[in-house]
Amino acid sequence: MCGIFGYVGKRPEAAAIVLEGLKRLDYRGYDSWGIAALSDNKITIEKQIGKIANVKSNFQLSTLNSQLAIGHTRWATTGAVTQVNAHPHFSTDQSFILAQNGIVENYKELKEQLLKKGHTFHSETDTEVIVRLIEEKLKNDKDLQKAISHAFAELKGRNTIILATKDGQIFAARNGSPLVVGINEQTKDFYISSDTLSFAHDANKFVIIDNGTILRLNHSLKIFDIKSGRERPYKMEDVTIDSGKIDKEGFDHFMLKEIFEAPFVLNQLLKQDEKAYMQLASALKKARNVYTIGSGGAGVAAAQCAYYLRHFGRINAVSLIGADSAEYLELLSKDDIIIAISQSGETADVLEILEPAKKMGVTIASFVNMPGSMITRMSDYKFMSESGAEICVMSTKTFDAQVAFGYLLSKAVSGKLAEGKKNLRYLSDTIATYLMDKKNHETIKKIAKKLSQEEHIFLLGKSQNFHIIQEGMVKIIEAAYIHGHALPSGDLKHYVITLMEPGVPVIIAISNDEVKNDVINAVNEVKLRGAYVIGLAEENMSNFDYYLPIPQTDETSALMHLIPLQLLSYYMSIELGNDVDKPRNIAKSVTVK
Ligand code: GLU
Repeated sequence: MCGIFGYVGKRPEAAAIVLEGLKRLDYRGYDSWGIAALSDNKITIEKQIGKIANVKSNFQLSTLNSQLAIGHTRWATTGAVTQVNAHPHFSTDQSFILAQNGIVENYKELKEQLLKKGHTFHSETDTEVIVRLIEEKLKNDKDLQKAISHAFAELKGRNTIILATKDGQIFAARNGSPLVVGINEQTKDFYISSDTLSFAHDANKFVIIDNGTILRLNHSLKIFDIKSGRERPYKMEDVTIDSGKIDKEGFDHFMLKEIFEAPFVLNQLLKQDEKAYMQLASALKKARNVYTIGSGGAGVAAAQCAYYLRHFGRINAVSLIGADSAEYLELLSKDDIIIAISQSGETADVLEILEPAKKMGVTIASFVNMPGSMITRMSDYKFMSESGAEICVMSTKTFDAQVAFGYLLSKAVSGKLAEGKKNLRYLSDTIATYLMDKKNHETIKKIAKKLSQEEHIFLLGKSQNFHIIQEGMVKIIEAAYIHGHALPSGDLKHYVITLMEPGVPVIIAISNDEVKNDVINAVNEVKLRGAYVIGLAEENMSNFDYYLPIPQTDETSALMHLIPLQLLSYYMSIELGNDVDKPRNIAKSVTVK
């Protein structure tokens, strides 16, 4: 899930520009980083272990006069986190240098063949295999672009590479992992990156680089088909995201700021084209099977969307987890619809099923936050969350938007979109009031302090609240590094009840709905065994040890329960002294399998 960034233009501080670009990409990987800059026909490199966010502007390359540089922020998949393994990787004669985002699935076979041919390796990475393979191809190809294309065609898996040469060119090839070029038409500066946001403040146009293509950049951009070598025309689009707004705006962390943005993201949905909802709703009603799909938090959101489609839309929607959906492929037909939920629109595990499904003629709908993504481009029904950049690695506002989308869509299916919008507007106002009330934060902080001492936390909910407490579990695991276990409250008695004993913490979400009494039974069952209960409910109950009041919002109650769970994980992360916006080991958009 690494981030790739490159610059070529007239400014003499290329390395510093790349450093800033990488800092904006560090949600994609932050275990080590490297930058290579060209000066006087010589490539100089700096690589370090640790977070790029902590690097000051006086890093070693900062004084180098250079107009071309590439860089990489790593999330290691192959080879330990060491300086040697950090990208970019030099060719033997130092005539070019290369960085990669992805995994070369056949790297072992390739490495064996290359070792037999006499190549030497310095790192443990799959990336260095690409470098040596290009060198091998150069023996016959002579031309570097051809050699890169031939080598790239032999790689298995989702990969994107970027390469800088000592004669002042940047090449990049894409197959899966994201790649975009940014252009400033006035200054003729070029940027190349894993996302548009990272150069949005400097470029006014961007070009999405398609899979199966290789680009060449010096003072102009040319794109070629990897297989045929033929030049391809490309489309420049306007950069519309305002990355100037990427600022904590007075909040201590992006996470808190983004939790506070819930009312904003819900209002963004309210502004969307109703016709688009109605069109998808009518297609859903005619579909043979409807699947929702996502990974990680978006997988939980996809499950909640399926719940809403069943509950309000009376559609037999089934939710899938990206990484575990392969067996459904054979069951799909062109009468089916898949609704993909993804923040980045580049989630590899989701693309793995969408790509073959699309070829089979399955209809694809999607709800994505980042503009210009692969998932959006392959969708027949495209919905953008328009939530703005989400910088914290853990998603909060994007999750709110994903769930609210599922709610609105299900209301559209039942012919009650107007009612759904009215309810969502009310919810948005209620969340705004809730977030502004200091008392709520004080109560949650107290509970966060207590829960931060625990090793295991159980979360129970039913029906509309089951996936919400699952998301509460995801957040606690991500933010506090504490083991959470979410389960439907009705399942408790079947096995988890063996773990209920004095002092065990159980978070229970209750709404005023048709299953309320069933959930109250679960409260009684765990209390009888001595567990202590943190109740999230619209009214207090005598057997709650801690009570988190939830304002009444009827049909959207599940979404209202989300907010205190997000705040709880935020305050637990603070309490434990964790890195709130960048929890250990995870990265934001998972573009590798
Ligand atoms: N496979 C490469 C490495 O481990 C790149 C990793 C990635 O893109 O996440 O260095």
